[in-house]
Amino acid sequence: MSVLKPVFPLHQRLRKRTLAWEAALARAVGNHPFVAGIAGTAVAVAMAGLTFVSLYAGRADALTHAHETSQSLVAIIGSDLERNIEIYNLSLRAMVDGAQRPLTWQLSPGLRQAVLFDRATDAGYLGGAYILGTDGKVKAEQSGEINPLIGLGDRDYFLVHQRGASVGLFISHPFRSRLRDHKLSIGLTRRIDAPAGQFAGVALLAIRIEYFQHLLDKINTGPSGSVFISLDDGTLLARKPLTSNEIGTSIVRSPVFAYIAGHSSAGSFVTVSAIDGVTRMYTYARVPGTPLLAVVAPAIDDILASWRKRSAIAAVLTFALAMVVIGVSWLLAFAVRDKILAEGELLRLAATDPLTGLANRRTLDQRLDEAWLHSRRNGEPLSALFIDIDYFKRFNDTHGHAAGDEVIAAVADCVASTVRRSIDVVARYGGEEFAVILPGTPAAGAARLAEKIRRTVESLRFTHAPGTQEAVTVSIGSASCVPSNGGTALELLAAADEQLYAAKAAGRNQVMSFVRPENETTHGASS
Ligand code: GH3
Ligand code: MG
Ligand code: MG
Repeated sequence: MSVLKPVFPLHQRLRKRTLAWEAALARAVGNHPFVAGIAGTAVAVAMAGLTFVSLYAGRADALTHAHETSQSLVAIIGSDLERNIEIYNLSLRAMVDGAQRPLTWQLSPGLRQAVLFDRATDAGYLGGAYILGTDGKVKAEQSGEINPLIGLGDRDYFLVHQRGASVGLFISHPFRSRLRDHKLSIGLTRRIDAPAGQFAGVALLAIRIEYFQHLLDKINTGPSGSVFISLDDGTLLARKPLTSNEIGTSIVRSPVFAYIAGHSSAGSFVTVSAIDGVTRMYTYARVPGTPLLAVVAPAIDDILASWRKRSAIAAVLTFALAMVVIGVSWLLAFAVRDKILAEGELLRLAATDPLTGLANRRTLDQRLDEAWLHSRRNGEPLSALFIDIDYFKRFNDTHGHAAGDEVIAAVADCVASTVRRSIDVVARYGGEEFAVILPGTPAAGAARLAEKIRRTVESLRFTHAPGTQEAVTVSIGSASCVPSNGGTALELLAAADEQLYAAKAAGRNQVMSFVRPENETTHGASS
């Protein structure tokens, strides 16, 4: 004969496991009804936190990107300046070479002009090329028109070369040209030496100031950005945006220039402009081998504009989503709590008697079994009382059912308040009958308690007939045993019931007790 093992399909086994899982989860949630709300809030806060962190990282990225862009722009301006100044310098060297050769001055004016200024004509933004004599007067000029009345001996570029031989290339402050309609220019000059090394004049290239402004026109630093080129003593050569008459003025007192003057040859910082109150990121670099300084300064508001727009949308969406998550999780949490409360109330209703609020018959059975097992395990005595209201039918007949119910409730209160320990069980057994389980209580204690109940009920002063003194009383049967000696819980209850009938038979309003002798499984009577 083959034994057929029950084989469950896989999905059934999975279903079983899932149910166990679900039950464990439900139990955990049941013990902590707000866990869903707390978890939902934590998730929402974590989500918002992550969004904040990534948005903040995005801000740092935007600033870093702007810094790198500014650095490249400064490098572009710097290399353009460096390259052009190098070209001007080569032209100047050629002019100096020509001017130092005595032969040059013996040539005809046209030829001399070609020899001296051949290379200078290539230079862009050239205002004019000149050879100045030791008196500051023009000795030779690129265009050939020499104005003997104009002297340039007071210019900074003339004086610096007159004073020293080792200046090399000199870049002057901006000046208004005396030779060319007062056009704003800067002078690039080199000293001309006589054969013995004495001062023999100056080679001058006048560069139109627009060169710097046109250079900046190619640079885009955003709507509120700024970019400028200055000399290292703070003399402004070009600026974008340009306000009138700024060129040639000194910005040495501005906080931006003060910062740059006190720091290394290149760097970056953020500050508020003293001119227009705009916060900008200033990136600067000195042009090597020159007194020139290039500064690129996009406005922080421009740098962060698109980041701010994106962040505002992300923040609003995250906030809304977080609110939804928090709202839904707390709705769920409150729903779970209400369900737990409702279930608790249902359990309570299922376990109690509605008229008296005492445990009902079902609860009594369950608690009696538990008490029996507990007492048997610990070798403790266990007692049971059966209480029945005497002549209650008569009371009902006289006073009506409603009054009868009042008496039942009053007797229930009386029993419950006399039996005080939390492990004791007081139940309505049915009709006008009550049962009491007294764990750990021996016969003498149970009998004392029963007597106390009897007396208290008697003192309630409910009377059977109007105008009589005949009080409503109870009869009580008590039974005790030590469960570890044998027997069953039902036998204990039956013994108490038997005692109740004995009490009734003996005239009512009294207590009758049974105690099972040590060596017997059935109870012997005594009162
Ligand atoms: P005794 O117990 O002393 O022998 O007499 P009794 O009149 O109390 O007799 P019995 O126990 O047979 O009668 C019980 C009566 O209790 C029957 C019914 O009128 C009344 N009763 C039972 N349950 C309720 C109840 O829930 N409410 C009310 N008002 N009366 C009830
Ligand atoms: Mg009865
Ligand atoms: Mg009765």
